[in-house]
Amino acid sequence: MGEFDLIARFFRRPARNAVLGVGDDCALLQPRAGWQIAVSCDMLVEGRHFLEGVDPFTLGHKALAVNLSDLAACGATPVAFTLALALPRADAGWLEPFSRGLLALADAHQCELIGGDTTQGPLNICITVIGEVPVLQGRSQALLRSGARAGDDIYASGTLGDARLALEALRGHITLPADELAAARRRMDMPAPRVALGIALRGIATAAVDLSDGLLGDLGHILQASQVGACIDTAAVAGMLAHGRHLASSALNASTRLVCVLSGGDDYELVFTAPPQARVSVQAAARTSATPVTRIGVVQPESGLRLVDAQGAEVANVFRSFDHFA
Ligand code: ADP
Ligand code: MG
Repeated sequence: MGEFDLIARFFRRPARNAVLGVGDDCALLQPRAGWQIAVSCDMLVEGRHFLEGVDPFTLGHKALAVNLSDLAACGATPVAFTLALALPRADAGWLEPFSRGLLALADAHQCELIGGDTTQGPLNICITVIGEVPVLQGRSQALLRSGARAGDDIYASGTLGDARLALEALRGHITLPADELAAARRRMDMPAPRVALGIALRGIATAAVDLSDGLLGDLGHILQASQVGACIDTAAVAGMLAHGRHLASSALNASTRLVCVLSGGDDYELVFTAPPQARVSVQAAARTSATPVTRIGVVQPESGLRLVDAQGAEVANVFRSFDHFA
């Protein structure tokens, strides 16, 4: 199977929303009047973002999911994506499930594959995703990192820490019953980008970010961009771990749980801020997008990120988020 057979067989499909899709030197998209284009790019490298031998179906899903998550964080509606693929060999047994996982998620979000590049090399997947956000009365409705204000509530969507929980179990640091491990592992392998929530939060959230590297680090990006600080309720956050809760404290003690929810990466949930007057609107957005959200803290005028327990007592911040070059 040559390069062009491979593209035709696994990645070329008739264009739906695009004016022109895969097959020419460029794809063509027709921008909608009154909308801005949102663009984001994410690379997945074998051995760094995923383990060698990972299920190609879930890898195809995840490669697009992490990109859609960036659109979600901006409140953008997905439109299309490109796929740059380096493959050690043209293996149909791998490409078939990979493209199936990728295109199933693409179809679920009506996000069309419009082009890419294919080359031989160490397995590497680079996706550029294109979305759109409305402009209302001259103002972009995109959610940015820079809009948080002192006094805003801080929220997180869904559940936190389960991907990290699975990783800790796979590394042998903790033990989980088989069904719990399978469920946590699913969170790691098949993240569900919070696209509907991001769209529902347009005009409500003051700032947003998606969680790829861990809550504390990613929230830190909002705080830095907005030049504010925050106080996080560790009890509220600890309750957001979905799996491993019923385990004996010896197997999964409180500190392991906090490490998972505060510094575990790969959750692809949204963290966002909104003023207290918007609480009803935030809950309405959660309902319309069928995505639970939990209030986990408050934005403060003085810089720095403080952690407190349920009684308001300071918790030492010994947690760190993932940094590729740290
Ligand atoms: P060029 O040489 O002009 O860069 P290519 O020969 O690399 O074009 O690709 C031919 C066509 O196939 C282009 O439309 C390109 O966007 C598309 N394409 C290449 N690789 C992929 C891929 N992995 N997924 C989707 N489309 C692809
Ligand atoms: Mg090319």
